[in-house]
Amino acid sequence: MKTGIMGGTFDPIHYGHLLAAEEARINLGIDRLIFVPTGDPAYKRKITPAEDRYAMTLLATAGVLEYSVSRIEIDRKEETHTIDTLREFIKSGIKPEDLYFITGLDAMLSITSWFDYKKIPDLCTLVTARRPGYPVSGIETLPDFIKDKLKYIEIPQFAISSTEIRERSRDGRGIRFLVPHLVEIYIESNKLYKSK
Ligand code: NAP
Repeated sequence: MKTGIMGGTFDPIHYGHLLAAEEARINLGIDRLIFVPTGDPAYKRKITPAEDRYAMTLLATAGVLEYSVSRIEIDRKEETHTIDTLREFIKSGIKPEDLYFITGLDAMLSITSWFDYKKIPDLCTLVTARRPGYPVSGIETLPDFIKDKLKYIEIPQFAISSTEIRERSRDGRGIRFLVPHLVEIYIESNKLYKSK
């Protein structure tokens, strides 16, 4: 049984993430995909509270048989690192050869700054998704032991970004059809992105 971990801030989750997840699932023969929203990492800009990002991820994935959402990083009291998340999944019985960690290209390019990153390729296959029109430069600078474990998926329709959705919502330009309907309602009714 192959397991994919979709790691991201998901502020908010949008159709680009869902398309990336589905493309990875189909191309890599992944049986189940677990979305893992980050906790509230200290290194990031001010982000929406983890509970709101978790709720939106649940709403976006509800009813899809192969998808689930994990609180593993949200509930971790101490600073959260991908290596700890991977170790916990391995401890639960998943073999490293059956574990895939999927995230965006920008994030993947920063992997050499992640905590204990040298051990990450021993625990999973890395998968990165990119949007059209964005240069792929940078991959070649990653160490060989990372590149050897890196798979790459192109998402032709992935022209949506969370940043753009936050800006559109703040400016009242509408986000319909960029995020699932229930996520749109959640954002609007909680006025998530109304303040600067
Ligand atoms: P992010 O801000 O969520 O995303 C960075 C870029 O990747 C954005 O362009 C984003 O698009 C895209 N993206 C994010 N998640 C994606 C996904 N699952 N599929 C496709 N594209 C995705 O990045 P982040 O907060 O740095 O974290 C990404 C992952 O890396 C998380 O799982 C995080 O825990 C891990 N990470 C770990 C460490 C560590 O261990 N020390 C450090 C940094 C990151 P949108 O803006 O449209 O979402």
